Amino acid sequence: MSVSNSYSQTKGEKQIFILRNKQQLAKAIDNAKALHPKVRMIEFGEYQVSGSTGNTYTVLCYCAGGEKIVDCNCPSRVPCKHSAAALALHVHVAARRGH
Ligand SMILES: [Zn+2]
Repeated sequence: MSVSNSYSQTKGEKQIFILRNKQQLAKAIDNAKALHPKVRMIEFGEYQVSGSTGNTYTVLCYCAGGEKIVDCNCPSRVPCKHSAAALALHVHVAARRGH
């Protein structure tokens, strides 16, 4: 089990981005701000993000085993801009809710 990476990938199309520290989080949010993808919240923890090619991806943000998980269904490598964009909104909403 590696602890050097802040994210990990699983087999096939399913890719999961695990945040292990605040620097990683800040970096992801900075990327999202720079790219300005469109993010729509379906519900808290579930987001639809429009990519540069016009495709829409679903990103799930949740906690498991004390870790923040960001799960995007796009085919690109993680952490992708969709994950970052959804995460930025997720963190924003979570902060407003007092999480
Ligand atoms: Zn993605």
